[in-house]
Amino acid sequence: MTQAKLIDGNAFSANLRDEITNRVHEIRDFHHVTPGLAVVLVGEDPASQVYVRNKNKRALECGMKSFEHVLPVDTTEKHLLNLIEGLNDDPEVHGILVQLPLPRHIDAQKVIETIRPDKDVDGFHPWNVGMLASGGVGMIPCTPLGSMMMLRDHLGSLTGLKAIVIGRSNIVGKPMAHLLIRESCTVTVAHSQTRDLPAEVRAADIVVAAVGKAEMVRGDWIKPGATVIDVGINRITLADGKTKLVGDVKFDEAVKVAGAITPVPGGVGPMTIACLLRNTLTAAARLHRLDIPEAHPWN
Ligand code: NAP
Repeated sequence: MTQAKLIDGNAFSANLRDEITNRVHEIRDFHHVTPGLAVVLVGEDPASQVYVRNKNKRALECGMKSFEHVLPVDTTEKHLLNLIEGLNDDPEVHGILVQLPLPRHIDAQKVIETIRPDKDVDGFHPWNVGMLASGGVGMIPCTPLGSMMMLRDHLGSLTGLKAIVIGRSNIVGKPMAHLLIRESCTVTVAHSQTRDLPAEVRAADIVVAAVGKAEMVRGDWIKPGATVIDVGINRITLADGKTKLVGDVKFDEAVKVAGAITPVPGGVGPMTIACLLRNTLTAAARLHRLDIPEAHPWN
C-alpha cells in the first residue's frame, strides 16, 4: 500500500530559520539594524511560559534581539497598554507579540488594537486582518503563513484546486481561507454547524484541519491523493495512562489515502515560531525601508 509523503515541518522550519539567520546577519553588518522581538506574557500559565521561552530562545539563535516582559497575573489592563505603547515607540523593538490567552480582566481585543500594526508580528490587528482580506500587504498570522509555505513548497501552484478549511477562528481558520483564496483555490470554510462535513472534505484537494478535536477527520473522509495540513494540537491520554500529542486528523488512516500530510508533532507546529521570526525580520526591513525579499513575503 502506498503511503502519503510526509511534509516535514521540523526540516522546513530549520531551513527557514537558517535563511532568516543569514538575513539578520546581513542587515546587521550592512545596515546596522538588528531586528528585535518583544514578547509579553501576563500570568503563569505553564503552556504559555514554554511558548514564550521558545520564542525568545529562537529569536536569539537567529541573531535577533529579544525582549521578554513577564507580568504578574493581576497586572492591570492600563499597565499592559502602557507597556505596549512604550514598545510601540521603542526603536529597538520591531515586532511585538502579546501571548494569548490573557487573564479575563484584560480586554484582549483592546490589547491587540494597541499594538502598532507595522509591529504586529502576530497579524491580529484589524488593520492587518483587513489587509489580508483585501489583498494588501500587511502582516500574515504565523500559523496560516507556515501552513501556506508548506503547501506551496509541496504543490507549487495551487490555482484551481478545491480547498477546505475546517475551523473559522480568527487566528487560523479565517486567515488560512484568505490565503487560499489569494492562491486562486476554490475555498470552503467548515465549522461546527456544517452539514455533512465528511462529504465536504471528500471534495477537497487540500484539507486544512484547525478544529481542536483529537483525530476527528477520518481517513475515509479524505479524497485519494489530497494534501492534508493538520494544524490541531491535542493531548490525549492512552490506555496505559501516558499522554500523547495528536492532531485533528486520524493520522494512521489518512496517511494511507492522502498524497501528502503533515505529522503531529513535527508538522505545522515548528513552522509557527519560524514564521514569527520571519515576520519580525519583515517588520524590521519595512520599518527601515530595506529592500530584502523578506519584506514582501510572497504576496
Ligand atoms: P478555536 O478557536 O477553538 O476554533 C475551532 C474551530 O473549529 C471553530 O471555528 C469551530 O466552529 C470549529 N469546530 C469545532 N468543532 C467542530 C466540529 N465538530 N466540526 C467542524 N468544525 C468544528 O481553535 P483554533 O485556535 O483555531 O485552533 C484549532 C487547533 O489548532 C487547536 O488544536 C489548536 O491547539 C491548534 N493550533 C495550533 C497551532 C500551531 O502552531 N500548530 C497554532 C494555533 C492553533 P465554530 O466556529 O462553529 O465554533
